[in-house]
Amino acid sequence: MTSAVTPLGQRDTEGKAAVAARARQVVKAYGSGDTRVVALDHVDVDIAAEEFTAIMGPSGSGKSTLMHCLAGLDTVSSGEIHLGGTELTGLKDKQLTRLRRDRIGFIFQAFNLLPTLSAIENIRLPMDIAGRPVDAAWLHHVVETVGLGDRLGHRPTELSGGQQQRVAVARALAAQPEIIFGDEPTGNLDSRAGAEILGFLRRSVDELGQTIVMVTHDPVAASYADRVVYLADGRIVDEMRSPTPEAVLDRMKDFDARGRRS
Ligand code: ADP
Repeated sequence: MTSAVTPLGQRDTEGKAAVAARARQVVKAYGSGDTRVVALDHVDVDIAAEEFTAIMGPSGSGKSTLMHCLAGLDTVSSGEIHLGGTELTGLKDKQLTRLRRDRIGFIFQAFNLLPTLSAIENIRLPMDIAGRPVDAAWLHHVVETVGLGDRLGHRPTELSGGQQQRVAVARALAAQPEIIFGDEPTGNLDSRAGAEILGFLRRSVDELGQTIVMVTHDPVAASYADRVVYLADGRIVDEMRSPTPEAVLDRMKDFDARGRRS
């Protein structure tokens, strides 16, 4: 059963925010027989456009798997994934590769920058590979906002961890993707550099209308989001709007206590 997908950037008849990505009854299983692991167990989730969504849950709860399935980096065992008006499930590899390249931005824990290229060359790389013209005014705006200033000609090894992650964030934003997926994007940074990156992601949602989905286990990182979705054992068990670090921490303790009782 499929519900209608509201086209990207539009509001539905009730005035609710548009849906950027959607999972319907998604099951993802690894292995078979005795070694079968169900990483996602009939997951339904809507990711609102122009919102910052955090995905949380204990280790092994399926956070990365859900992100990979939503981003078309992994295939589902059953169910459907939609990105805007496109159903990902059923696309051929080549079409998926093109969709990821043209419509999705990624920020991973390891910054994934090419060591031989300068910061600005790394930022432009996805557009250069796609043969897409670079919007110079936009690029300037992104680079200014990320605050890389005079570091653009430097190679990654000449930059701090925080600066490298700012390059990775600028690279994701520069192409103006429909949606950006981050997997623990501040996991390798000290708290000050992490706060800078998270503040920047927040601003890109508020000021640039970017849609962001971030996997994290850090309540402080999650508090930058508009909404937190909680996973446990491959299922969505709860969600919270306008999270604070304290409220997220309390909710996590609650899950831990329940987990120990069951
Ligand atoms: P999280 O990101 O919440 O830590 P994951 O999505 O990485 O959780 O993993 C969910 C479950 O799926 C875990 O039990 C994990 O061991 C299993 N899993 C993830 N990837 C694979 C894989 N490639 N092969 C087998 N099992 C996997």
